[in-house]
Amino acid sequence: MATISSSRSAFLHGQWTAAESAGLYGIPDWGKGYVGVNALGNLTVLPTKEPGRQIDLHEVVTGLKERGIHTPLLIRFNDILDHRMRELRKAFDDAMGEQSYTGGYACVYPIKVNQQRHVCEQIASLAVELNFGLEAGSKPELLAVLGLSAVAGGPGVNGMPIICNGFKDDEFIETVILATKLGRNIIPVVEKFSEMELIVKHAQRYNVRPRIGIRVKLSSRGAGRWESSAGARSKFGLFVSEVLRAVEYLRGHGMLDCLNLLHCHVGSQLYDIRVLKNAVNELTHIYTELVRLGAGLNTIDIGGGMGVDYDGSQSAWSSSINYTPAEYARDVVYRIKGVCDAAGVAHPQIISESGRAMVAYSSVLVMDVLGTSRFPSSPDLARIEADLKAEAEPPQPVLDLLDAYNAMTDRNLLEAYHDATQARDEAMSLFSLGYMSLPMRAAAEELFWAIGHRILEKASRRGGELPEEFESLPDLLSDIYFCNFSLFQSMPDSWAIDQLFPICPIHRLNEQPTRRGILADITCDSDGKIDHFVDKREDKKALELHEVRDLPGEGAGVEPYYLGVFLLGAYQEILGDLHNLLGDSHAVHISVDRAGGWVIDEVIEGDTVEEVLQYVQYDIADMKRAMRLDVEAACRQQRLTLGEGKALLKYFDDGLEGYTYLEG
Ligand SMILES: *Cc1c(COP(=O)(O)O)cnc(C)c1O
Repeated sequence: MATISSSRSAFLHGQWTAAESAGLYGIPDWGKGYVGVNALGNLTVLPTKEPGRQIDLHEVVTGLKERGIHTPLLIRFNDILDHRMRELRKAFDDAMGEQSYTGGYACVYPIKVNQQRHVCEQIASLAVELNFGLEAGSKPELLAVLGLSAVAGGPGVNGMPIICNGFKDDEFIETVILATKLGRNIIPVVEKFSEMELIVKHAQRYNVRPRIGIRVKLSSRGAGRWESSAGARSKFGLFVSEVLRAVEYLRGHGMLDCLNLLHCHVGSQLYDIRVLKNAVNELTHIYTELVRLGAGLNTIDIGGGMGVDYDGSQSAWSSSINYTPAEYARDVVYRIKGVCDAAGVAHPQIISESGRAMVAYSSVLVMDVLGTSRFPSSPDLARIEADLKAEAEPPQPVLDLLDAYNAMTDRNLLEAYHDATQARDEAMSLFSLGYMSLPMRAAAEELFWAIGHRILEKASRRGGELPEEFESLPDLLSDIYFCNFSLFQSMPDSWAIDQLFPICPIHRLNEQPTRRGILADITCDSDGKIDHFVDKREDKKALELHEVRDLPGEGAGVEPYYLGVFLLGAYQEILGDLHNLLGDSHAVHISVDRAGGWVIDEVIEGDTVEEVLQYVQYDIADMKRAMRLDVEAACRQQRLTLGEGKALLKYFDDGLEGYTYLEG
C-alpha cells in the first residue's frame, strides 16, 4: 500500500530531524542497536551497542577517501562480530542456567558463511575463550579449518570442536583421522553410509579412536527457501534405517562408543521457530533411543538456520524471523531437556552451527551515487506546441495528452489519469506502426510523466492515503540512482533469491529526503538493480532519497552522496561473482576504541583490473605489448600524435593496476 509519507507533512511544518530519518528507514528495527543516527545527521555504528561508543560512518568513509581508499567499500566491524559471538554464548548460558541444563553448549562456525581469513581468524581466536569451534563442509574448508585451529595457537586449542560436514572421500577421512591423532577434537559427520566404512578403515589402520557423528534425515520438514535441507528427499544424511545399520556396524567393529554426535540441519534463515522445535524434538527422540542401544552419544548438533531480521519486521517472513537468539536458545534447551529427562538420559552437549546469525551484522557496504535519471516533471510546453505546429497532421493522442495536462484540476484527477493512460497507449501503438514522428513520441511521453507527477503532487497535498488507482504511480515515477557497485559481486543474494538488505543514506539524515528512487549498479545487466526495500509494513518498491546535487561546472559530476547496505556479513562475499569483471571491493576493518574513536585495523585492497583479467586467463604482458605496437603504428601513420599515444598507453597501464570500480 503506497502512502504519502508522513515525512512530507513534517517538511511543511518544521525542521526534519535525524530521528525522523531513523523512523523512516526503520533503523532501530533492523539495526538491533548496532546502528544509529547522530546529531550531525550521519549514520553511526555502535559495535558494542553502547551509546558512548559510536562510530560515525560518514566520517570513516571520508577519512578513508582522504587516504586514497575509495568507495565501494566493505567495512567490517570486528567488535560487532565479537559482540554477536558473546550474545550467542550468553543466550545459551542463560537458557541453560534457567532450566538447570547440565550438558553445555558450543557454537561451531561454518566457515562457508564467510571464509575470509580476517573474519575466520577473529572467530577462531575468540572461539578459544568462548568454547566455540569451527565447521568445514568441503576439502578446502577442512584444510583451512585445520590451519586456523593451529593458528589460534596455544594450549587448549586442541579442544576446539571441529565438525566436518559434506561429502568426504578416502583422502578426506584419512586426513581427519590423522588430525585426531594430532590431538584435534575433530568430528566427521557421516552423510552417507560409505563414509562410515572409510572412518572405520582408517581408524583401524592408524589405531585411532575417532569421534563420529551422524547426520539424520528427519521426517520433519524444513521451511522456506532451504526447506529441502531436511526431510526424506534431502541431499544429506542417513535414513533412520541406515542409522540403525550404522550402529550395528560400529558395534561389530567394537566402536559404538565412538558414535558421539547426532546431527541435523533443517535449512538456513529459518523464519519460523516451530520448524526448528519440531526437528530438535525428533532428533532428540532418536538420540535417546540410540543411547538405549548402547551408542556413546554425548552431543546433539542442531545445525545452522538461526535467522536474521533483515527487514526489521520480526515476522515469519523470508527476510525476517519471529524469534530472538534468546528465544531460540530457550526453545532448543527446553526441547532437548524435556525429551532427555523423560527418557532418563543425561543432557547432551548442544552444538549449533549458526553462521548467518553470527556474522551477518558485522559488514556494511558503502557505495557512492554516480548520478540519477528521473522522469521530467514539467513538460516544455513551448517546444511541444512548436513541434505540433510542424506536423502536417498533429496526432490525436498527443493533442489529448496536452488537453488532459492543461485541464487538470484537483477534482478530476482520476479522469485525467484514465485519459492520459489511454492516450499514451494509443500514441505508442501509432509510433510502432510508423504513423508518428519521433518528436511527437517524445511529447507524448513527456506529457504523460508530467500528468503523473501532477496527480501525485495534488493528491499528496490532500494528505492521507493515495487512492487505490494511483498506488502504482509513485513507483512508476521514481528516480533511478546509479550507484558505484556490482550487485552480483557485493550482494548476490539480492539477485539470486530476492533477499532484502536494509539500505540507507549514511549522511544528510537531518535533511528531508525529497526523492524516491530505485538503485542501479554499474554492470550492464538489467538485473543489476534494487527495486525492493525493507519496510515493516509494505512491499516497498522505491527508497526515499535525497536530491543529488551537481557540482558547479559542466561535467563536474555530483556532490558525494553515500548509501550504506547493511547486514552483508553472511554469504555475500563468497557468493559474489565477477560479472562484467567487477571484482572484490576494498575491505576495511574498523574497530572502536574505549573513547569511541575509530581505528583502522586492516585494509584489504580490492581486486585490480589486472587481477580479474588474469583470473580469466589474460596475459597482461601480452596485452601491453600488443597495445604498444598498435599505438606505435598509429603514431607512425600520424593517426595519433606521440603525446596522444603516450597518454593512451599510460591510461591503459594505470587502468590495469587500478580498481575495477569507478574512482571519480
Ligand atoms: C550452511 C550450513 C550451516 C549454516 O547455516 P546458517 O543458516 O548460516 O546458520 C550450518 N550447518 C550446515 C550443515 C550447513 O550446510
